[in-house]
Amino acid sequence: MATWGYGKDNGPDTWGKWYPVCDEGKRQSPIDLVPETCSEDPTLPALVAKFSRLPQLSLENTGMSWKVNYVPDESSLTGGPLGNEYKLVQMHAHWGKVEGRGSEHTINGKMFDGELHLVHYNTGYGSFEEAADKPDGLAVLGIFLQVGENSHPEFEKITSMLGDIKLKGDLVELAEELDPAGLLPVESECYYTYPGSLTTPPLLESVTWLVYSTPICISKTQMLSMRSLKNVENDDGQEDEEGCTCVQDNYRPVCCRGERVVRMIKL
Ligand SMILES: [Zn+2]
Repeated sequence: MATWGYGKDNGPDTWGKWYPVCDEGKRQSPIDLVPETCSEDPTLPALVAKFSRLPQLSLENTGMSWKVNYVPDESSLTGGPLGNEYKLVQMHAHWGKVEGRGSEHTINGKMFDGELHLVHYNTGYGSFEEAADKPDGLAVLGIFLQVGENSHPEFEKITSMLGDIKLKGDLVELAEELDPAGLLPVESECYYTYPGSLTTPPLLESVTWLVYSTPICISKTQMLSMRSLKNVENDDGQEDEEGCTCVQDNYRPVCCRGERVVRMIKL
């Protein structure tokens, strides 16, 4: 079986061949977030993110993105729409080949240059694996990335090491302690929340999405270091028909929102 990816022959349009939920699902992600059609819900309790700084986290090239594996049980998310405590297990990102595209969610049709995902699982299920296919199993914090003038200091702890994991399967230890709280947008006034899915196969419909309304800014250099990651295990200089073996345009386009209610919650 061919593996899914983001190319012409194995990209999001084709995932339904292997994962029927891609086309048949009722709560697929990402979606376009339209503030005018969102409901507000002042009755929700505050969203509480308790993050700890951790040393020696592993950073890997999955061939689809970079991924920081978080040590379970150290950071959690409660409140907001979440009925339980959710713990952080990993973070990764999606980005474009050029600026102007790359985020998965959009706001009023506007795409950002990238999107960071902090993946949490419902502790009621005991582990990420058990939670992954349950309707309330996962919660993902989505943070838009926008290329600007300044480099982002917390994000730099990741991007400065991407040169060490050029090839798919490469793994290193982060040199500095990472503080997930430092990756949240400071000026966000609200977040959007709705029931959705993983945006990569197997596209399980188990995610409560929490997407911040404003981006964090990263530098062009930081973006370029993500675009330089390779999606192959051996770099023999060969390129595919599109002239690239780099991890680029690794985002899924928006799906149909359907009857789903999207709530806009003030922070
Ligand atoms: Zn993601």
